[in-house]
Amino acid sequence: MSVEQSVLERSAHACELCGSTDAVGVMLVSPKTLSTVDDSIAVCAACQSAMNESVLDAKQWRCLTDSMWSPVPAVQVVVYRLLKRLDSESWAQDALDMLYLDDDTRKWAEQGVQAANVEATVDVNGAVLQAGDNVVLIKDLDVKGANFTAKRGTAVRGISLSDNPKHIEGRVNGQRIVIISAYVKKS
Ligand SMILES: [Zn+2]
Repeated sequence: MSVEQSVLERSAHACELCGSTDAVGVMLVSPKTLSTVDDSIAVCAACQSAMNESVLDAKQWRCLTDSMWSPVPAVQVVVYRLLKRLDSESWAQDALDMLYLDDDTRKWAEQGVQAANVEATVDVNGAVLQAGDNVVLIKDLDVKGANFTAKRGTAVRGISLSDNPKHIEGRVNGQRIVIISAYVKKS
């Protein structure tokens, strides 16, 4: 079973942040770079685009007070980062106080607090990339953990964004990989 299928099975095809079953995809949680089930969460299109806004809409994210109880560390990490961005809200502060993360998970979560940001994801020319865009690789990329090189000129269709603006995800040679956004050109 692919990583995507396994994650969607874990989440019963629902968004692990808000519970929606509408347009649910799989997102790798930064700064992890190799897509695995444990490092990925199922997230709906609405949550994915909302988390890339420069200012979070607090009302929309009240769902975090439920999803914070997820037993999945990758979900806890994303919830923690979002709550940190919402900590001007008293309910979000309360939730952060209650959110229990073990040491490794906390370290992981904090690594991304700076990355979980306001920057847009852009290609080599500074063009803003969005989920679903098609891009072309502008250099050969050795894919860590998989034994192949993604060749310059390879088209990657229907990319996903990650919560790190410097990374996108896409399928090359049938494998979902993380690609540095500066190494692609929007097509
Ligand atoms: Zn959602």
